[in-house]
Amino acid sequence: MEKKDSQTATYAPKKPFAMFDGTCPQCRSGNMFKYSSMKISKFDEMHTHCPNCNLRFEVEPGFWYGAMFMSYGFTILLLIVMGFSIFYLFNDPSVMYYIVPITVISILVVPFNFRISRSVYLHLFGFIKYKPELNKKIK
Ligand SMILES: [Zn+2]
Repeated sequence: MEKKDSQTATYAPKKPFAMFDGTCPQCRSGNMFKYSSMKISKFDEMHTHCPNCNLRFEVEPGFWYGAMFMSYGFTILLLIVMGFSIFYLFNDPSVMYYIVPITVISILVVPFNFRISRSVYLHLFGFIKYKPELNKKIK
């Protein structure tokens, strides 16, 4: 059994986990969003600056327009995966068996899609360097 020393162990979240969690790309501990994605009326409300390291999330004016293309890509990916799944699982049913579930699920994933698109876009195209010394969980 591997022995772990809790005194020297550090918690450094990897980039994909930080993207999925919606945490700041610079410190990876401050939340980008004010509320949980389950809070349907406020899922899109973001902090303007990181609550932990004060990084401005909208790195330039109009930065979030790029996230719309991310969102579009995720939606198309979902559409393709669901389309092929329905085709193979239900042996090519009529068109309504594609349209209804794909439309319903596309609407249901809007909060998740919105948030993951912004988070992924900021992490990949914000060109913000990770600074482990700012992560409050490592100290
Ligand atoms: Zn931060």
